[in-house]
Amino acid sequence: MTRKPSRFLSVEIGDEYDRLTVISKPWKCPRFGQWKVRVKCKCGIVKDAIIQRMVIGNVRSCGCLNKERHSKFCAMLKVDAMNKGSK
Ligand SMILES: [Zn+2]
Repeated sequence: MTRKPSRFLSVEIGDEYDRLTVISKPWKCPRFGQWKVRVKCKCGIVKDAIIQRMVIGNVRSCGCLNKERHSKFCAMLKVDAMNKGSK
């Protein structure tokens, strides 16, 4: 039985997915059977990402994007809490 080559394998070195740049060829993780690739985030962190998640847009940074969003969200909450507290 031959399967069509996965589109995830068309990921190439130099491809960019939001903050992530691909810096290695894809390999299959023997434990989970997922295709992974080494990526470098714009913030400088190098990590391994699951290609499938990256291609569909689930993973767009090393995590710093989420942290930034989270801290902005927290800042909003704090301001909100302060406003409530002053009344
Ligand atoms: Zn990052």
